[in-house]
Amino acid sequence: MSKTDAYGLEGAHALVTGGGRGIGAAIALALGEKAARVSLLGRTEETLNGVYDRLQHKGAVAIGDVTNADMVATAIGHIEKQAGPIDILINNAGAVETSAFADTGHDLWQRMIAVNLTSVFTVTRLCISAMRKKGWGRIVNIASTAGLKGYAYVSAYCAAKHGVVGLTRALALELADSEITVNAVCPGYTDTDLLRGAAKRVAAATGLAEAGLIEQFRATNPQNRLIEPEEVAAAVIWLCSGDARGVTGQAIAVAGGEVM
Ligand code: NDP
Repeated sequence: MSKTDAYGLEGAHALVTGGGRGIGAAIALALGEKAARVSLLGRTEETLNGVYDRLQHKGAVAIGDVTNADMVATAIGHIEKQAGPIDILINNAGAVETSAFADTGHDLWQRMIAVNLTSVFTVTRLCISAMRKKGWGRIVNIASTAGLKGYAYVSAYCAAKHGVVGLTRALALELADSEITVNAVCPGYTDTDLLRGAAKRVAAATGLAEAGLIEQFRATNPQNRLIEPEEVAAAVIWLCSGDARGVTGQAIAVAGGEVM
């Protein structure tokens, strides 16, 4: 793997969590276009295989829930056995549940922290020693603009994503004596199942029109549009490149100029 080329991702082994749909699928395919060998870790075999089939340079597919530390350990063991140590880790798997703070119980809180924050800790811990051994690596955490500012009715999700940004900043400093960089990409409202599912659920709970809610999401972006998954993937690819070797500990918003 070249460290000096603008991209230098050819042959690097990349793992994308939640790579079967949405932003994760776009990242997996974009890494594949840069000739990285891509592995996928997620819950749903069918969608993961659908993306995996489209990749030219394959790593491995492993089924596992990122909130289950034992499953993740088994899955990463399988991936490393099939395709070798992981050079590039994209912590993308995540989920959102909306709720007024007063109605946010411990269960919802724990679910949001588990899937959006603790999963990043779990997966990263399992990948870091191989990167340390090699002295090179890239970790990109898909946080959110909700990791940089508050939004009403998603306090648990906001807390988890702020946690991801904090973890990113701290780990970047610990690894700054190596060529391992750690960054977060913070998308604004992005056109995926997560966004459309949230709009559907809020509409059902409140009686508001789903189309009106999507319009509100769009309007938070000064460019008055939803972000496309491929735009998030483009930022990730740059952070993985040799050109971005001096960029670490950053949280980069892809949000059309939304003020943080
Ligand atoms: P999608 O709902 O489209 O995709 C989420 C992916 O994460 C799916 O592949 C899903 O797998 C996987 N996933 C969810 N929970 C788990 C779990 N417990 N174990 C393993 N995999 C899991 O969402 P997006 O593509 O929109 O979101 C990707 C990331 O981007 C998330 O971290 C999200 O918080 C973040 N984000 C999204 C924004 C948006 O507006 N869409 C804005 C800002 C950040 P499965 O198919 O099995 O459900």
